[in-house]
Amino acid sequence: MPKETLSVSGCICAGEEKETHSSREKRLGWHEYFMNVAHLISRRATCTRGHIGAVIVRENSILSTGYNGAPTGLPHCNDTNCRIYKSTHPDGTVEENCVNTIHAEINAIVQAAKHGVSIKDSDIYITASPCIHCLKVLINVGIKTIYYDKPYKIEHIDELLKLSGIRLVQVMLASNLKE
Ligand SMILES: [Zn+2]
Ligand SMILES: [Zn+2]
Repeated sequence: MPKETLSVSGCICAGEEKETHSSREKRLGWHEYFMNVAHLISRRATCTRGHIGAVIVRENSILSTGYNGAPTGLPHCNDTNCRIYKSTHPDGTVEENCVNTIHAEINAIVQAAKHGVSIKDSDIYITASPCIHCLKVLINVGIKTIYYDKPYKIEHIDELLKLSGIRLVQVMLASNLKE
């Protein structure tokens, strides 16, 4: 797996920095900007097992966003309950997932499809690394680089990353928007 990591300050409130009159206000970099947006979007998530946000970007413009939750009009996990199912990965590990929930990356792709926005050759910022099912879809979308903050079952996508050639880059923030 490509081991790329970017460390960015992630401060979204430059005004809090104690700067002298001669120092300039620190401008947010693109990676911290989009990753902070992804964290903000994750606050709309409704599955109590985890709040994930995703932002699809091309040429520094946001094309689409998504967070994890139930399909439109259906009961959300925070109003009812998660409905958990277990599955066994080929390596023997058993994982639990919520059957109610559409993942953030898929909802971002859905939003683009719904409004006819082309997302080919774009990048995606996700607050956690994609699961193997979402990764397969991201490959077919034509996503170039996946930027993520926290690793999630990342060992399960190792082989698919190598075979597909899609880039996976960790963007580490020190942001107060994190959960
Ligand atoms: Zn749930
Ligand atoms: Zn997923």
